[in-house]
Amino acid sequence: MTTQKPCICIVGGGFGGLYTALRLDSLLWQLETKPEIILIDKSDRFLFSPLLYELITEELQTWEIAPPFEEILSDTSIVFRQGCVTHMNLKTQQVILDSVSAISYNYLVIAAGGKTPLDIVPGAKLHAIPFKTLNDAYRIKEKLRLLEESEAEKIRVAIVGGGYSGVEIACKIADRLGEKGRIRIIDRGEQILDSASKFNQETGIKALEKRQIWLDLETEVTEVQSDTISLRYKGIVDTIPVDLVIWTVGNQVSQLTKQLPLEKTETGLLKIKPTLEVLNRNGIYALGDIVESKDATGKKLPATAQVAFQQSDYCAWNIWASINHKPQLPFRYQPLGEMMALGIDNAALSGLGLQLNGSVAYIARRLIYLYRLPNLQHQLRVGLNWITQPLVELLS
Ligand SMILES: Cc1cc2nc3c(=O)[nH]c(=O)nc-3n(C[C@H](O)[C@H](O)[C@H](O)COP(=O)(O)OP(=O)(O)OC[C@H]3O[C@@H](n4cnc5c(N)ncnc54)[C@H](O)[C@@H]3O)c2cc1C
Repeated sequence: MTTQKPCICIVGGGFGGLYTALRLDSLLWQLETKPEIILIDKSDRFLFSPLLYELITEELQTWEIAPPFEEILSDTSIVFRQGCVTHMNLKTQQVILDSVSAISYNYLVIAAGGKTPLDIVPGAKLHAIPFKTLNDAYRIKEKLRLLEESEAEKIRVAIVGGGYSGVEIACKIADRLGEKGRIRIIDRGEQILDSASKFNQETGIKALEKRQIWLDLETEVTEVQSDTISLRYKGIVDTIPVDLVIWTVGNQVSQLTKQLPLEKTETGLLKIKPTLEVLNRNGIYALGDIVESKDATGKKLPATAQVAFQQSDYCAWNIWASINHKPQLPFRYQPLGEMMALGIDNAALSGLGLQLNGSVAYIARRLIYLYRLPNLQHQLRVGLNWITQPLVELLS
């Protein structure tokens, strides 16, 4: 008698989805229960987003931070399908790709990530660029290139959001533009890096001061036009000229997640059990930016790669446990610290009793991310390039 192998379908190949697939593939399976693992993503590449800033300054290249799935998965039994998931039919247990083909599953992992909401301020969707995907980074680079080649004396960049992303991109752009750059960060709060550790916050503020990056705090964006941005401070709206607006705030679930008949929070995040299974549905797991993540005490966790990455381990293990009739484990988050890039060759790092800044933090950050890149072969290729690149530059 032959038994049909279970099929695990993973929607989204980011930090949550890709690492769940890799972990599932690495677990010990008996031949008769080894599942078919299908990973679906609309892109052909995984994006290691914490290193996206380095594309803007050309410190790193696309192949290093965004390896193709085919390459990452070449030594595994994971099947990669490139396509946009338009619908998930939970009744028939099918994932619909590009509204045409369907994949049947026994277990579903939803890890489709979030998106930057641009439709909350008039003109933002049309004139501001988010900073989330490879395409966003290419658009920003191209815009900067055109501005650099123009005869403009100053290049005025407005960055909306003074969290990690806003501060990191501001420092990178300031270092790229040098004297020509006029950069401002706009934030509704009283201070930037609100959720960061004290050390990272202080180091971030110093890095912005050093680069003469202007801070508009307690300020709201009311409108974005092609060459202006309107800001409200203490009830008064001021419209100022700008060459580039980058939008870094907010995390919203996509239409795909919105339409699912699953329990959600007020902001649309999927509600999950500690085992990462969605509420009231067996066999459907969700993780990463689209879920309401909590630590062991019930405290809400931020939407970060660190959380999604750690969840992937539990998600894979719990699916394995379910297939093998073993108990599932509740997710336990381990805060491992926070890192941020602060311009070229500079960073800040705090966590696990360590506080580093400057070039030491820069090297530590690079090494930690190198270790986190998927797949040993890719780590070796990138690591080798980082060692040999300075020598090549020296000799050329
Ligand atoms: C610039 C930047 C820097 C960051 N830096 C850090 C950092 O330093 N540290 C940190 O911890 N976190 C950082 N983050 C946050 C981190 O990247 C996210 O929290 C993390 O990627 C979430 O993982 P995820 O799997 O939920 O989503 P994602 O990694 O976004 O993956 C979602 C995947 O789903 C795919 N997808 C979406 N919709 C569909 C569809 N309909 N069909 C098929 N595929 C689909 C997408 O293409 C994507 O590959 C950063 C984010 C950004 C944007």
